[in-house]
Amino acid sequence: MPNLVAPGFEKHDELFAALLATAVDGIIVIDLKGDIQIYNQACERLFGYPSDEVVGQNVKLLMPAPYHQEHDGYLSHYHKTHERRVIGIGREAVGRRKDGSTFPIYLSVGEGKLGDQGFFVGIIHDLSAIRQEAAQREGANRLLAQIVQSSDDAIVSKTLDGVITSWNASAERIFGYSAAEAIGKHISLVFPPDRLVEEDEIVARLKSGQSIRRYETVRLHKDGREVLVSLSVAPIHDGSGTLIGASKVARDITEQKRAEAKTLALQDELAHFGRLSAMGQMSTAIAHELNQPLTAVANYVNAAQRLLEGDSPAAPKLQSAREAMDKAAGQTMRAGTIIRTLRDFVEKRDSERSLQNFNDVIREAVTLGMLGHKHSDVKLSLTLDPAITAVAIDKVQIQQVLLNLIRNAMEAMVKTEHPKLVISSAAEAAGVRITVRDTGPGLSPEIASRLFEPFVTTKEDGMGIGLKICESIVEAHGGTIEAINGDPGAIFVIHLPLDLMQTEKH
Ligand code: ADP
Repeated sequence: MPNLVAPGFEKHDELFAALLATAVDGIIVIDLKGDIQIYNQACERLFGYPSDEVVGQNVKLLMPAPYHQEHDGYLSHYHKTHERRVIGIGREAVGRRKDGSTFPIYLSVGEGKLGDQGFFVGIIHDLSAIRQEAAQREGANRLLAQIVQSSDDAIVSKTLDGVITSWNASAERIFGYSAAEAIGKHISLVFPPDRLVEEDEIVARLKSGQSIRRYETVRLHKDGREVLVSLSVAPIHDGSGTLIGASKVARDITEQKRAEAKTLALQDELAHFGRLSAMGQMSTAIAHELNQPLTAVANYVNAAQRLLEGDSPAAPKLQSAREAMDKAAGQTMRAGTIIRTLRDFVEKRDSERSLQNFNDVIREAVTLGMLGHKHSDVKLSLTLDPAITAVAIDKVQIQQVLLNLIRNAMEAMVKTEHPKLVISSAAEAAGVRITVRDTGPGLSPEIASRLFEPFVTTKEDGMGIGLKICESIVEAHGGTIEAINGDPGAIFVIHLPLDLMQTEKH
């Protein structure tokens, strides 16, 4: 046997006492009958008995049923057979505290001899904390599993090679494969063939430490139909931080997209209705506007006819006739342009974005908006920021917004002494701003906070949907519209976001 004790330490009672006192684990020495001979400080903490209440008592005092009843039997069995069940082996057992409560322990038992007196040593390691932690971990895992199972989103994990390792109930519902069918298969199971490249892209991004959030794409249901999903992918690391796979959360957005498409179609309908009603209101002005060039055409043609009448048309008359015909053609063109602009405007169409020179779009809308008001004494100030060039918008719809604002402004200024319409565009950090300002009476306080609600109007013949349409068009473009009192007049400000804009930098 190796010498475990250095010279000078061999026979010190203090050393023995210090060892007992310092040990974190409980140490109990019993005699061959089972009576407790030594019971250290850690035991007092563990069992709640002070040592003077247990020393001399049988050790089964510290054991709950069935060990309590069986311990005497263990001892006599050992004395008879020397068959070791726990001695030198150790095992998990249960301790009983003074208050009757029990706790899990790891018990190591050894035996020794002092002279001819045999004894057993028990070392008691409290397992409560470990057990509790394990139970908590298990509880947390179970909870997590329940959350994953009950999620409306498909939650799927896979290795870096794309092999599916877990597949929750919603994954079964959204993709049609049961967990048993999907686990162990390659994730390409749910990929349309033309989307397979996305998997490489996803893995590459995970490897570079990025997650993927709300990526909208298409996957395949078992029955072959396409499912629109919003995908979020996060890396899974092992305990040492190595990337070993990915968890994917897929939300089925097929219905949502269908609803969005429906809303957009409704918005188009509403916008179209708005344009028709604007056009209806403008019809007198339009008739007047078209009447002018057409009357002029008729006059020029009559004049030309007169000039061409007679026996021998003289050269100067011919020249005048040519000029009259040119003017007639010019006026016809003008009437034609007006009709074309109007037809474009009222035409029923799906919303469609294209790159447009934004300032030109504003100029055209102003022309349209001023139709019929040209001869009123409204002063127009148009300040357009040349830094704005091409913007991806639905031209007709944005013109509809501007036309609405301009017509409202014109109507508001009918009784204003110095009517002035100020329209400006400006490139700004977050996008582009358009302002339409008038010098009318401003917004009526009783409706100022509800301007953009439908059917809110102060006009006798008003429908109160113009501003609602403006708002829905601007919001469909990702922008905002607000109305403020300008003192004098009203100011309408539209912000359209940067991603619609292509400035000269691009
Ligand atoms: P409508 O023109 O049919 O009333 P709108 O939705 O276009 O419908 O406008 C709603 C209301 O907002 C108007 O009735 C008016 O009271 C107010 N409003 C709109 N523009 C102006 C403006 N430039 N100045 C003052 N009030 C305005």
